[in-house]
Amino acid sequence: MKAYFPSRQPLSKDWFTKREAFSIVGAGRIACSHCGYDVFDALHLDHKNGDGWEHRKSQGQGGTGGGMRTYRWVNQHPEQAAEKLQILCANCHQLKTSLGYLPDQPPMTETQITFLASENWEPDYYED
Ligand SMILES: [Zn+2]
Repeated sequence: MKAYFPSRQPLSKDWFTKREAFSIVGAGRIACSHCGYDVFDALHLDHKNGDGWEHRKSQGQGGTGGGMRTYRWVNQHPEQAAEKLQILCANCHQLKTSLGYLPDQPPMTETQITFLASENWEPDYYED
């Protein structure tokens, strides 16, 4: 997989700040820690134990948005960041948010996609 698609915009200072933050969190490997997907623009930083809202709030961001402030925090606190955060792709991040955990297998196999569209599908992810 190609790790980086050239952007239509010239690379900004923010882009380099973001790339440095991802490199710190991923210990030099910029890819989803769950499934290995590595297209940079579809990668997110995830708070491993789900306390992102409180963390952002403690930085005075009102709990939402402010990605750049998080990247700068990572670059200033690399050890804490590597412990607290992980890189997830947009798919895995969404699954973790929706399910509250990450399924052992990568998000969707061909079989699951077909099965999900069938009449026999039941949402077993949501069982207690
Ligand atoms: Zn992933």
